[in-house]
Amino acid sequence: MAQMNLTFLGTGDDIPSRSRNHTSILLRFNEENILFDCGEGTQRQFRKAGLNPCKITRILITHWHGDHVLGLPGLLSTLAMSGYNKTLYIYGPEGIKERIKKVLDVFNFYKNYEIKIEEVKSGVFYEGKNFYLSCEEMEHGIPTLAYSFVNKRGIRIDKEKLKKSGLPEGPLLQKLKEGKDITYEGKKFKAKDLVYEEEDKKISVVLDTKLNKKIVPFVKESDILISEGTYSKELTKEAEEHLHLTVTQAAEVAKKAKVKKLILTHISSRYLKDMKSLLSEAKEVFSESYLVKDLDSVEV
Ligand SMILES: [Zn+2]
Ligand SMILES: [Zn+2]
Repeated sequence: MAQMNLTFLGTGDDIPSRSRNHTSILLRFNEENILFDCGEGTQRQFRKAGLNPCKITRILITHWHGDHVLGLPGLLSTLAMSGYNKTLYIYGPEGIKERIKKVLDVFNFYKNYEIKIEEVKSGVFYEGKNFYLSCEEMEHGIPTLAYSFVNKRGIRIDKEKLKKSGLPEGPLLQKLKEGKDITYEGKKFKAKDLVYEEEDKKISVVLDTKLNKKIVPFVKESDILISEGTYSKELTKEAEEHLHLTVTQAAEVAKKAKVKKLILTHISSRYLKDMKSLLSEAKEVFSESYLVKDLDSVEV
């Protein structure tokens, strides 16, 4: 089974603090290193986490607010100086093509690799061999997206049963995966005895947005929902005014969408000394709630 890992490079809100960097999350899966947002200081957070930014394959931008993108020029420049030799794919909402072009013009660094920028809207925008990426439009005053990464699992061979059956590894097994029974050395083997279906794994990322009707259907049944939790419920009015979510709202979304685990990030520095009560506010609504700090790493 392919291993998936999430590293929370930055977990603060719009003003970084001593302990929380601007937002950035790295998802590692096989050869893919997918970066969600790139707040200021992200490239140093890579180093602190012992990770290599040259392994990034795709960058997904939720929206063009400084705390989510100020790290881009530095990161792109460092990649150029570190011999990055792949095509870097950057996805984001309407308007990012023009903005990234301007960033590249302003900094005028030597760019020896290709950057492909794609503006995406709602739905699946990338389909790979074992996974796909989709997005949905959020409400945050400017074009803003939530993202989902889905690892397609499908039909798998039960290795133990295969061993006992005496069937050799090889092209015959593909037929079993397709649900077809096979004959080997005169003996019949039924697909249903040797294969099993593995469920898809879904990770959803909902950063800045006010509460809206699109969130629950979009993140439905995620294994992990990463959500902003910028305010506590006492500041529900402020959250609405500033187009953000409260921790309680994020937990209610998690519950309604029947996700397995909620990870709260984009935490305001006003709660630096009171993380426990922020987390218990979420747990009151949804018991599988967690609150991350910078450089936390989660196996999926
Ligand atoms: Zn933000
Ligand atoms: Zn924002």
